[in-house]
Amino acid sequence: MDNRVTKLFNIKYPIIQAGMIWCSGWELAAAVTNAGGLGVIGSGSMYPDVLREHIQKCKKATNNGIFAVNIPMLYPDIDKHMEVIVSEGVKVVFTSAGNPKTWTSFLKEKGIIVVHVIANAKFAQKAEEAGVDAIVAEGFEAGGHNGREETTTFCLIPIIKKAVKIPVIAAGGIATGRAMLASMALGAEGVQIGSRFVASEESSANINFKNAVIKSNEGDTKLTLKQLTPVRLLKNKFFDDVQNAENNSASVDELSKLLGRGRAKKGMFEGDLIEGELEIGQVAAIIKEIKSAKDIIDEIITEYKQAKAELIKGF
Ligand code: NDP
Ligand code: NDP
Repeated sequence: MDNRVTKLFNIKYPIIQAGMIWCSGWELAAAVTNAGGLGVIGSGSMYPDVLREHIQKCKKATNNGIFAVNIPMLYPDIDKHMEVIVSEGVKVVFTSAGNPKTWTSFLKEKGIIVVHVIANAKFAQKAEEAGVDAIVAEGFEAGGHNGREETTTFCLIPIIKKAVKIPVIAAGGIATGRAMLASMALGAEGVQIGSRFVASEESSANINFKNAVIKSNEGDTKLTLKQLTPVRLLKNKFFDDVQNAENNSASVDELSKLLGRGRAKKGMFEGDLIEGELEIGQVAAIIKEIKSAKDIIDEIITEYKQAKAELIKGF
């Protein structure tokens, strides 16, 4: 496959694995890169020394050293993460949850490729103006932190495609070759896939969380905590506690107190399915097996090619 996204990252397939907190460690990123996609380390849950360790391990474990680091701009020690990225010679950075103007020129001056994650046209244009190389457009179906507009991927991709000239990578609700084909038909030049890779052998998510993902069904995730930062979660006791608090008109302070610290770690890394925060997308409903990252990518590409051939034949 040959397009602006494969050329930008020098990868075989335009499949980008999302840099998810507590799930996207070096093992997953390296496995995705070695299978022909772009592996991404999720730095949001890593202290700077841990990030350095993951980058070093990823460099050793990848054939070509092509992988990225995702940095949520809400991260408290972002300066230290940037220092680690530059000193370790990371070639690609995905920024999310913040203003793309803050770090893009710093990274570009160092020769680093920059991609920014957005959920609406306004921020897509802002990212393009800031000089990013590509955009991830993430729809409402996606797990974890989510845009406030609630625009679904099917509506978002054509809107973003119209708004910017740089390559658009579709995200949210994509776990199969058919969904990848649909995204490309809408104008995306690549896909970012999160939930499917949570339930991979190499993801650093706790096995309890992976099992909960493959057991989940349609309707089992919901966007919540809209007053703080909207986040899509798998329903559990913690989710119910948040819903009850919101139904009882809890204040922002009360919700923050209920959330506490380290909920995401408790759920996704330590495997507490009752009290932990479990971030996953709607598409979890069709994920039924834990597989290796290579098998996941091979399966997506095979299905993509078959579906494309079927469509061409049908016309
Ligand atoms: P290592 O084999 O170096 O270390 C594994 C360590 O992580 C062990 O202490 C292990 O605890 C702990 N660990 C691994 N998986 C889990 C889990 N699902 N739940 C609770 N504890 C877990 O692994 P890596 O090379 O993969 O990791 C290097 C460092 O990065 C470690 O400190 C690791 O904890 C951290 N890490 C951080 C991530 C993040 O998103 N912040 C993601 C992945 C790893 P035990 O001794 O009980 O087996
Ligand atoms: P909390 O404030 O509840 O907890 C912070 C967690 O991050 C702790 O588990 C802590 O690990 C770990 N951590 C890693 N580095 C640092 C640091 N420098 N200072 C403090 N804590 C650190 O936050 P969340 O777990 O909800 O979120 C963590 C980060 O991930 C935030 O930066 C957030 O913006 C980002 N995030 C990004 C998402 C995305 O979709 N991109 C989704 C959700 C969160 P320990 O417990 O070992 O101290």
